[in-house]
Amino acid sequence: MSTHFDCIAIGGGSGGLAAARRAASHGASAAVVEKSLLGGTCVNVGCVPKKVMWNAAHTLEAVHRAQDFGLDVAYRGLDWGALVGRRAAYIERLNGIYARNLDKDGVTHIQGHARFLDANTIEVDGERYTADHFIIATGGQPVVPDVPGAELGIDSDGFFALREQPRRAAVVGAGYIAVELAGVLAGLGTETSLLVRRHGPLRDFDQLIQEGLQEALPQHGVDLMTHCTPSRVERAPDGTLTLTAEDGRTIEGLETVIWAVGRRANIDGLGLDAAGVATDQAGQVPVNEWQETNVPGIYSLGDVTGRIPLTPVAIATGRRLGDRLFGGQKDRRMDFENVPTVVFSHPPIGTVGLTEAEAREQYGDAVTCFSTTFVAMDYALSDHKPRTRMKLVTVGEKQRVVGCHILGTGADEMLQGFAVAVKMGAAKRDFDETVAIHPTSAEEMVTMT
Ligand code: FAD
Ligand code: NDP
Repeated sequence: MSTHFDCIAIGGGSGGLAAARRAASHGASAAVVEKSLLGGTCVNVGCVPKKVMWNAAHTLEAVHRAQDFGLDVAYRGLDWGALVGRRAAYIERLNGIYARNLDKDGVTHIQGHARFLDANTIEVDGERYTADHFIIATGGQPVVPDVPGAELGIDSDGFFALREQPRRAAVVGAGYIAVELAGVLAGLGTETSLLVRRHGPLRDFDQLIQEGLQEALPQHGVDLMTHCTPSRVERAPDGTLTLTAEDGRTIEGLETVIWAVGRRANIDGLGLDAAGVATDQAGQVPVNEWQETNVPGIYSLGDVTGRIPLTPVAIATGRRLGDRLFGGQKDRRMDFENVPTVVFSHPPIGTVGLTEAEAREQYGDAVTCFSTTFVAMDYALSDHKPRTRMKLVTVGEKQRVVGCHILGTGADEMLQGFAVAVKMGAAKRDFDETVAIHPTSAEEMVTMT
């Protein structure tokens, strides 16, 4: 095997694979070093297994609502082991597809932990490799708070390793992962508490979404505990866990505590010092708009940079870097504006662009917002009437749409098309001029007044 390449990506996750494959498509000799499973976080302990679990919970919701439509459906329980087993088999198939794709594209797969020896050389399992360009795409890992007994809990990786369904769980955190895992667990029948240290989860999201989520969580069966900071976790004589909060509140009888309080960059043992690559205070690898680190020839992208840690962002950034370095596209770079994102809560949340608060801070009185709240027709025959919420944030006389926020059934699939419109600079009038599709929830997006 050659030990010199035009380009070596360190990390075989979303970003590293995309960058190396794109480089190879332009004729570069490329390699990917992966210490664990190909596909990285997204495929193995992130988006993919999470979406499988979300789909399971979503399907169960439909089963529970079947009787609203006169369907005589009896639910006899969840075989967690079967669900997890089928999920694992699916992921294993994906791992294989990733390996075959590398092979097909002529990208060398180097298995092992990469460590820089200097700015031009890495070592993997005692073997040295050199490259003209290195791409650091090592992703991130969960952090656990520094409280006594924290080790009794698990993180999102541990959640995906659960072989039995916990009967009672506490999820600690206020971001995407906390909201999603709490929703999945509650949806599948686990008695679930979500502990947030401030007034509510997803505090960076538009106010309308935050309010909607606070209403939806308890309706979905999640016990939302606000202003609740854990101070310790202990094992009770019966083997269950007791979580105590700083204000003295306790939750007993827990079969699991899940920490979802954020993630940190994967730079342990990477030898960044040996290569002279600088990190910031958060331990991330800062880059300029061209994904360049402070060392010429060493680039970084994806979660390890801390810049919008989403899979499609890592992929798009990797492909653009590959095009720029090896495809002769000198100006090709990632545009981090208007990146759409979905939180797979119950119901899901879709958002792109500025929140109303951000827009007002940036544009002041030039901001006009349009919003609506309604019960989706899915629930027309149900006693349960969850409310869908939508908001368009516009700017200026032409009312250019700079933000679009949706909470409700179908928001996950709805948002992508609207994100195209926002990216293209659509105005409210373009939405108004678009004929509605009836009867859908999405039609409300083009009929707001
Ligand atoms: P990663 O995918 O983390 O890949 C980095 C790889 O580098 C890893 O495989 C690691 O083993 C390897 N590595 C690290 N150090 C070394 C080394 N020294 N040598 C060799 N290899 C090394 N994003 C979405 O867009 N949608 C979602 O629904 C979504 N859900 C998520 C759910 C969860 C629970 C989590 C944790 C994340 C989720 N994300 C989601 C985020 C998404 O997974 C990440 O943004 C994405 O995986 C980042 O890609 P990356 O290439 O930067 O890093
Ligand atoms: P986030 O950074 O999104 O959220 C973590 C939150 O936990 C913080 O914002 C903070 O909220 C709270 N927190 C921090 N420290 C503590 C503490 N000690 N005790 C209690 N709460 C604490 O991290 P996640 O790990 O949830 O997700 C990481 C990223 O992964 C996301 O930002 C997202 O980009 C990506 N992701 C994407 C998904 C998707 O696309 N659907 C799904 C999952 C992850 P506060 O300050 O309000 O307390």
